[in-house]
Amino acid sequence: MARAILSLTHDEIEAWCLENGEKRFRADQVRRWLFENRAESFDAMLDLSKVFREKLKESFTLFSAEVVAHQVATDLTEKLLLKMPGGDTVECVLMREPDRRTICISTQVGCAMGCVFCASGMLGLKRNLSRDEILEQILRLDRLLDADERLTNIVVMGIGEPLQNLPILLPVLDEVTDPKGLGLSPRRITISTVGLPEKIRELAAVGKPYNLAVSLHAATDQLRNELVPINDKIGVDAILEATDEYFATSGRRVTFEYVLLGGLNDQPDHAHQLASLLKSRNAHVNLIPMNRVEALEFDEPSASRTSEFVSILEERGIAATVRKRKGADIDAACGQLRLKEDEHRTSNIQH
Ligand code: SAH
Repeated sequence: MARAILSLTHDEIEAWCLENGEKRFRADQVRRWLFENRAESFDAMLDLSKVFREKLKESFTLFSAEVVAHQVATDLTEKLLLKMPGGDTVECVLMREPDRRTICISTQVGCAMGCVFCASGMLGLKRNLSRDEILEQILRLDRLLDADERLTNIVVMGIGEPLQNLPILLPVLDEVTDPKGLGLSPRRITISTVGLPEKIRELAAVGKPYNLAVSLHAATDQLRNELVPINDKIGVDAILEATDEYFATSGRRVTFEYVLLGGLNDQPDHAHQLASLLKSRNAHVNLIPMNRVEALEFDEPSASRTSEFVSILEERGIAATVRKRKGADIDAACGQLRLKEDEHRTSNIQH
């Protein structure tokens, strides 16, 4: 069976070229077509001989998944739902801002973290995504851009817990940051985690200036245990110790994400607790107004609560921003489209 060409490293493509009687430098050409020239097929790789292209076609697939949904929002946010050959589905998103083209990618099929307000974890974790499955999301989204548009940022904030799939994610990001890959600076890549201290240290040890975002959502263990059940085994203090080390090692200011859930963690007291926790740290808070998830009873915060929360943080010297909602008229928030697709499939089976 044909393998996904994206599952091969550059060295492996080189070795394959040599085994197949081609020169080593052909690997660079193939890679340029994959990453830079946005080829949609091996046939499009016109500086390779016909015979070589045929060999590539027999041995590899360029993309392996099927696009089962492609939504475009009025703000030009685009979302793809990809179905892998085994039937698993994964979501990824392209967001357009005047000076940025940001993509959001997934690292797992489902999620084991179980955050109570999140659609991604509702069906549990099925498995880690593979190298080619993550690269395929990136390259398919890149191909949605106009010829003169360039990808500027990647946020690893889609479905799954990225730090649980580091051995796969790191080589993918190497490919993305390689000048012969997409040539993106690591400073333009953000990895969002529920907060796994040992894995944060592992990431720091890699020595690349990736941005780290930690989904804190509560300043006390009592509240965080309710919202992010895995916190029971970790604790806020251990997370902050690890993020302090991350900052010391990488020099990158850590972002703390805080989803505002109406009536649950959006009161002035909560803002004060958060400010006290972060006050001596060079941190940034990104407030995310809850995205409604059908079947979950959590509410969005009111606009006044949100602005009050921001004001308290700012008054106490904590840098804070409220995340802009992108793709509001499509199911752009993480996990929602996949969940719908799964429910749809389940109801089809029942009928
Ligand atoms: N597992 C990683 C990355 C994926 S989630 C993490 O926990 O960070 C990306 C961000 O979206 C996290 O901060 C997550 O808590 C948040 N999120 C999940 N469901 C949400 C919802 N319904 N509304 C708003 N934010 C949500």
